[in-house]
Amino acid sequence: METIRSYDKLESFVKTHYPDPDLITLRRAYDVAEAAHAGKLRLTGQPVITHPLAVSYKLAEMGLHLNVVSAGLLHDVVEDSAVTIEDLRAQFGDDIASLVESVTKLKHTVKYVGEERYAENMRKMFLAMAADVRVVFMKFADRLHNLQTLYGQPKNKQLRIARESLEIYAPIAGRLGMSEIKGELEDASFSYLLPKEYQDVKAQMEIKVRERGARVSRIIDQTEKMMTTNNLENFQIYGRVKRLYSLYKKMQRYDNDIEKIYDLIAVRVVVEDVEDCYATLGMIHQMFRPLPGRIKDYIAQPKPNGYQSLHTTIFAEDKTIVEFQIRTMEMHELAEYGVAAHWRYKEDGTQDLKNTRWMEELIQIQKELETKKDFMQQLEIMKIEVFRDRIFVFTPKGDVIDLPEGATPIDFAYAIHSQIGNKCTSVRVNDVVRNLDVTLRSGDIIEIITNKDRRGPNPDWLKFAKTHHARSKIRDATRSNMRQWLSGMLKKK
Ligand code: MN
Repeated sequence: METIRSYDKLESFVKTHYPDPDLITLRRAYDVAEAAHAGKLRLTGQPVITHPLAVSYKLAEMGLHLNVVSAGLLHDVVEDSAVTIEDLRAQFGDDIASLVESVTKLKHTVKYVGEERYAENMRKMFLAMAADVRVVFMKFADRLHNLQTLYGQPKNKQLRIARESLEIYAPIAGRLGMSEIKGELEDASFSYLLPKEYQDVKAQMEIKVRERGARVSRIIDQTEKMMTTNNLENFQIYGRVKRLYSLYKKMQRYDNDIEKIYDLIAVRVVVEDVEDCYATLGMIHQMFRPLPGRIKDYIAQPKPNGYQSLHTTIFAEDKTIVEFQIRTMEMHELAEYGVAAHWRYKEDGTQDLKNTRWMEELIQIQKELETKKDFMQQLEIMKIEVFRDRIFVFTPKGDVIDLPEGATPIDFAYAIHSQIGNKCTSVRVNDVVRNLDVTLRSGDIIEIITNKDRRGPNPDWLKFAKTHHARSKIRDATRSNMRQWLSGMLKKK
């Protein structure tokens, strides 16, 4: 992530990447941010404005809607100056203001204080994600720049931020399929958390890249020539070097022997369509001998996070072993940007809450957490376990409520307010009247119907209320009803 000092650089990037961008709003957002942070310096000695500029630039690189890019410029304004959310709403409208508001709120909750707070933080991130995933993208960009300028911070803060990034942010980015940002978060954290290991892996990598670099570029040239000869058009071919933290983890599984890591430098081929992917694979196998057992068709069988590509590892004549990764542009964008790929440089990038595709992905993430434990380290499993048995449901206004799996409308009603619970008479789930004991599912929109004359909860509700909160409120209310009834009886005597 680059430190950028000038608005011009952001603007020219936006001009070249977005169709018909609203540069007036972007400029106004910059002016407000500039004025709000004027004269202030970060601990690194740089002007504060460099931070929102970098965050905003990253969001533009991710291809998010310009509202998100503008909100990136404004993300620290409310915290650092007298400008209020209401001011922003008046000047920039609802969408930008609420993005800034959500990021500001998340700031106060994501603080690391012991293991329990930690789990709570992850839960809150997940909630924010369910409500508007763009807020989490903003949080990633914010965190990434803070990590990259961490040298200005005192040692203990460096370690806390790096650990939190590695253990909370990076796994969430990974779950969302955002491998680009996940890798950047990991590498930046790695250098602070395990500085010796980081330097060691980095040095080994540099030696290997020097050793193999020339040979790999020769393989790239040969492949390129062959593809052109075979009339393939509109393809890109380039070498990619494995990220350091990912290399470090992989080496631990291979006796710390870098010689055993075949995808240290991989050759990536991005082609026009699926047909070209298989054609390219065939050509590569005609030219180089493939290593047995290393041909993987993730196009026919995508990875659980949706990753698609063809992988093969080959021997070149000079005994160089190289992995090829072949994919279409669409697969490439999905591999790098994950769920954010859906929004890349689209006209309408505002998120619709009832967008079922997004809800499906969220549910998918939850399922994956249950079944794909082997992809994660023990520690990560423990942290992510927190989400396993949770569902996420909506109020008719679109607020997200999280509940344990198996929860019923009664749990939902008490989660909103104990009086909603006590006065609850019936429920509509996705606009259909249902029984109060129906099991809710992620993505349901729930409307509780109350009757203000209702005296209190039905003790039978205890048979299907799942949350501790609802159960204790039902018991409390039932007890006080009983006391009123008893005192009524006593008065009569
Ligand atoms: Mn910030």
